[in-house]
Amino acid sequence: MPDLSQRITGLTPGGDDGWGLFYEARARKAAGEPILELTIGEHDVGTDPAILDEMARAARAGHTGYASVPGIAPLRAAVAERLSAASGVAHGAENVLITPGGQSGLFAAHHAACGEGDAALLIDPYYATYPGTIRGVGAVPVPVAARPEDGFQPRAEDLAAAAARSGARSLLINSPNNPTGAVYGEATLEGIAQVAKAHDLWVISDEVYDSQVWDGWHRPFAGVEGMFARTLTVGSLSKSHAMTGSRLGWIAGPEAVIAHLVNLATHTTYGVPGYIQEAGLFALRRGAAAERAVAEPFRRRRDMVLARLERQQALRVIPPAGAMYVMLDVRATGMSGQAFGAGLLAEERVAIMPGESFGAAAAGHIRVALTLPDDQFGEALDRLFGYAVRQMEKARA
Ligand code: PLP
Repeated sequence: MPDLSQRITGLTPGGDDGWGLFYEARARKAAGEPILELTIGEHDVGTDPAILDEMARAARAGHTGYASVPGIAPLRAAVAERLSAASGVAHGAENVLITPGGQSGLFAAHHAACGEGDAALLIDPYYATYPGTIRGVGAVPVPVAARPEDGFQPRAEDLAAAAARSGARSLLINSPNNPTGAVYGEATLEGIAQVAKAHDLWVISDEVYDSQVWDGWHRPFAGVEGMFARTLTVGSLSKSHAMTGSRLGWIAGPEAVIAHLVNLATHTTYGVPGYIQEAGLFALRRGAAAERAVAEPFRRRRDMVLARLERQQALRVIPPAGAMYVMLDVRATGMSGQAFGAGLLAEERVAIMPGESFGAAAAGHIRVALTLPDDQFGEALDRLFGYAVRQMEKARA
């Protein structure tokens, strides 16, 4: 076999992409073990049947050929309308490219912003695919730690120092945040804006959790004064409409950038299936109440975790203000997130994601996805908390 490119073999150096425990849990589940899985950000309910009916109707009506590469016009317009309403900055269809999910939007946005060898800032803890996505376009990921004592809100001075040191071209932000649940406040957003201006950065703002906010509110970064011209917003229907498998998302930004990204899409994805786009349009037109209904169980389960935390000392939390996860600090057990996760899976058949999968700043933490029906979720929490208390007692003995 000829050699593979360094670009592809170097995506996840060391061979560990952070998903090891997840793959192990899936394999054991497939072999028949009753594993309770709190790993990936996948709803416990499927896509609403009314959306699926529309998908089938659209397919039968003939939307099965090549669809318009930038996205069908009414869907681009509907996404633009949603972004205009949320950000207060007028977006038109020409500011939106429909993509096969947010992940491909992140990849395309970094392609637009970064050349070969350019530094790309990201905030640690980060969504596990971020470093590989950046490496995938030939850029160099430069993590900037957000601190637990700041509620995982990044500090402007840390970002400025990293931008100056690395000569970065872009900064990737994610609010509401996976894995920490942080929702960036005004001061954080203003600080990011100042750094972006001072260091002439593209800001790639991953807002796929914009419908899942429990405390405060989500402010789209493109709506921060002066930022629209340097912001590429990535969004998706995966989380807001339980449409993870439909692979439907978008990038929004200045028209001239979107034109280049349409060109990139022509040479990579060649667009998104028409019947999926029609279903996405139908989903968006159902309005905010439908999005709230999809989000509600995560708020409820977040509260289940917080209620249990009051009664023990083995696990600590910074209460998440948004997104479908809770990050728990397991350091009182004397274990790393990885060791805690491996032990929990072995002894209790509960699978979580180790904090270390999301960057060095999340070491000693675990990420719990709020993604099982309430009764099973309660059972998984009982096992998780029981395990943590036993480990803490062992550590103290
Ligand atoms: N960004 C973040 C922060 C995520 O957590 C995810 C998925 O979990 C994605 C992007 C990708 O979502 P999509 O399904 O739209 O590709």
